[in-house]
Amino acid sequence: MSILNLNAALANMLDKHIETLAKRENLDPETIIRGIEGGTMVLLANPNHSNVAPVLVGQPASVKVNANIGTSPLKNDVRCEMVKLQTAINAGTDTVMDLSIGGDLNAIRKEMLEKCILPLGTVPMYAVAQKYIDAGRDPAEIDPEDIFAEIEHQALQGVDYMTVHCGLTRRGAEFATGGDRVMGIVSRGGSILARWMLQNDKENPLLTGYDRILEIARAHNVTLSLGDGLRPGAGCDAGDAAQWEEVMVLGQLARRGLAAGVQCMIEGPGHVRLDEVETQIRGIKKLTNGAPLYVLGPLTIDCSPGYDHIAGAIGGAVAVRAGVDFLCYLTPAEHLTLPSIEDVHAGVMASRIAAQAGEAALGRPHAVQREMAMSRARKALDWEAMQTLALDPDMVEKRREEHSDKRECAMCGKFCAYKMVEENPSCGE
Ligand code: SF4
Repeated sequence: MSILNLNAALANMLDKHIETLAKRENLDPETIIRGIEGGTMVLLANPNHSNVAPVLVGQPASVKVNANIGTSPLKNDVRCEMVKLQTAINAGTDTVMDLSIGGDLNAIRKEMLEKCILPLGTVPMYAVAQKYIDAGRDPAEIDPEDIFAEIEHQALQGVDYMTVHCGLTRRGAEFATGGDRVMGIVSRGGSILARWMLQNDKENPLLTGYDRILEIARAHNVTLSLGDGLRPGAGCDAGDAAQWEEVMVLGQLARRGLAAGVQCMIEGPGHVRLDEVETQIRGIKKLTNGAPLYVLGPLTIDCSPGYDHIAGAIGGAVAVRAGVDFLCYLTPAEHLTLPSIEDVHAGVMASRIAAQAGEAALGRPHAVQREMAMSRARKALDWEAMQTLALDPDMVEKRREEHSDKRECAMCGKFCAYKMVEENPSCGE
């Protein structure tokens, strides 16, 4: 039976949006349906998110970019987060994740869903853990029923995709905490679940209760973003037993999801040295049956706080070339503080650059054509075209402003190489 027959909410969303999606992705509707049914592509679109413009993620759709925003207990300014939401949208992100962990999480999520026409993702475990932590209780006391209730509540609110760390097993948690890892567990959701399992001497409730999660997800076409709670948090930890143990389970869970009519993505690393990025991506893709892969970076070095969006974009470009489908941005604030509005813009741009670099290297027509058009515009000193073709048109306008009356730019002035050759009557003869 096809996924479209199993998941009525998805079938309805596809019916409504397939023509727009096919046009935007330059794909046949049949290719999109085949990709979704084969589990290599997902449509992020919960019908309860009333104003959502659905987005396709996965092969052979174009690479997408996500921006994480949200409050923290130390920086909790909801108005500022709403400005960040708009900043991320204006900068060209394809999706947004609300990772709030400070303040009234339910009200923040509700407002973001109202204001965000892009698919919105969350990590439901944060809202559950916040209730326990704010009440002075140990997250190891979390009642699994609270987690399932929160997932259902957020699905009804309209959250389009959710990170659920269902693949984190007790064995994996033991590998990560008891072995040679330098950084141990760096995922917030992963660390809460690991604490719960190790203290209660029980298996991950999101794994044992996976069928219940599938049931909720199918009813509302929530895409499960199967979280990498054991992702490497340092280059030297990449590719260890803990990471691969979780990846293998994620592959099995994605298969079960597909059989149940639920769309699944796989979350990936994390910190990975540049020479290991390609092997990691190809390995994860193989073990997870080609499901859409959503990576955080990957960060290629560990010593660039303040510039981690650059370290991440380097890894992201290589990852896209190796088959990654979805890049989660990193901002200059990574590992330091909550991103500012400017950081959000810089993070989205860095990931979009990585996506363009990777897709141009893959020879994807939309990326190659954009490169060629920009080169031609540059040669012609056609600033209007350059601005249109630039990933950040506002930046072109701003940086050129001071000398916009000149044909050349202020880098070389009268030494402009293009003009020099163009004005030489014997040139080209
Ligand atoms: S002035 Fe120099 S940098 Fe500017 S367009 Fe001409 S050659 Fe390029």
